[in-house]
Amino acid sequence: MQQDKIPTIIIVGAGLGGLSLYHALIKNKDKKEFNVKIFERESSPTDRWQGYHIGLSNYGAQSLLNCIPSSIAANLPKAMPNPVPDVETHGIIITDQVGNVLLAPPTKPFKDVYDLAKISRGLSSMITYRDRLRDVLLEDVPVQWNKKCIEYLETKEGVWVSFEDGTQEFCNILVGADRINSPI
Ligand SMILES: Cc1cc2nc3c(=O)[nH]c(=O)nc-3n(C[C@H](O)[C@H](O)[C@H](O)COP(=O)(O)OP(=O)(O)OC[C@H]3O[C@@H](n4cnc5c(N)ncnc54)[C@H](O)[C@@H]3O)c2cc1C
Repeated sequence: MQQDKIPTIIIVGAGLGGLSLYHALIKNKDKKEFNVKIFERESSPTDRWQGYHIGLSNYGAQSLLNCIPSSIAANLPKAMPNPVPDVETHGIIITDQVGNVLLAPPTKPFKDVYDLAKISRGLSSMITYRDRLRDVLLEDVPVQWNKKCIEYLETKEGVWVSFEDGTQEFCNILVGADRINSPI
């Protein structure tokens, strides 16, 4: 009976945003409890190439560390190794079409993501491997793979979510974390 009163949240999209939200909801269960389900159209974590680097700013680092539990945060260095000398750098660099550096604004130095998150003024940025960051965020998350959302229907009671495989799920809150072309 008690279980019935706990609202269900469905997150569609297990990318960086959807996974961060999942962790944030679970981390804050003591404040408000939700049943959380997360659905992804890809068939597995390795189904699609996840791209190269993503720049994590000091503000992004603060948000990310707020969202995730310490067990996941402990694995962040796997996604944020020291830059390869003369090839990579923490910070923003603008190059021309053949790689000559045109602009490399100075940034405050920092030693790791925790140090980066302490920078409260200006913009600093840490290079992060997008695929490894996703792998780190996937840990302990029961993603339901092969579930492409195609539409949803709002009713008085909540929301029915439909998937391409013909299945449906009910929830009280539906979050679209599926980016461009989202049906949500
Ligand atoms: C080359 C490149 C470089 C970038 N660099 C940066 C950067 O430096 N800094 C930055 O902040 N951002 C950068 N971005 C943007 C970056 O992609 C986003 O910031 C980040 O990935 C957004 O996370 P997300 O969870 O919203 O989307 P994604 O990580 O794309 O996740 C969306 C997920 O939803 C799934 N999905 C889609 N449709 C459905 C559906 N119908 N049903 C179920 N699942 C679905 C997708 O398969 C995917 O896994 C870059 C993007 C690209 C392409």
